[in-house]
Amino acid sequence: MAEPVVFLASRNRKKLEEMERILRPLVSGIRVLGIDDVDGYTEPVEDQPDFAGNALVKARAGVTATGLASLADDSGLCVDALNGMPGVLSARWSGPPKSDERNNTLLLAQLEDVPDERRGAHFACAVAFCLPDGSEHVVHGRMDGRVIREVRGSGGFGYDVLFCAEGHEVTTAELSREAKDAISHRGRALTEVAPLVAAALRG
Ligand code: IMP
Repeated sequence: MAEPVVFLASRNRKKLEEMERILRPLVSGIRVLGIDDVDGYTEPVEDQPDFAGNALVKARAGVTATGLASLADDSGLCVDALNGMPGVLSARWSGPPKSDERNNTLLLAQLEDVPDERRGAHFACAVAFCLPDGSEHVVHGRMDGRVIREVRGSGGFGYDVLFCAEGHEVTTAELSREAKDAISHRGRALTEVAPLVAAALRG
């Protein structure tokens, strides 16, 4: 029987919390380890041009470092008026060191002259699930919506304070955790991969 533990290859504490919260009810008995549980973990360079490539880089590194089944999410906000940017560059859009606040300020400035009807955007994510036997799976999730003109809300992380999902007047930072998980890119991708995780844990 395989060890009932999954390694989540992320150091983003809020993203990890979301991943664990979404997976827990879907995979009974799941135990989760993160990068901070592994001494001397070196994160790989995310140098791929798309979410799937970067998610695979991270999940493969997780398997190599831990010998455990590993999940990694790579995600970002794709803004129509910016030709899909910041996309894979979302976390570091305003340069180092990573700062959600500076990223949001920069995005607001870049969209200042963009009228309401052209502020469409979507969150995208790829989740890679890699196993010590070499098998690899990638699933995708997406949440459509728009970028508003001022930050609102205190939940979530990253660009949530600027993003209203389709059919919503509140930002994803103003939604309850459960409401965000039910419609989010990450919720959708993890729901799709969960049966594979459950099967791998059963061994
Ligand atoms: P990654 O850790 O390299 O995948 O970077 C993901 C970045 O995309 C985060 O730092 C956020 O800026 C943004 N992002 C991804 N998912 C979300 C979300 O659910 N809400 C808000 N921002 C997100």
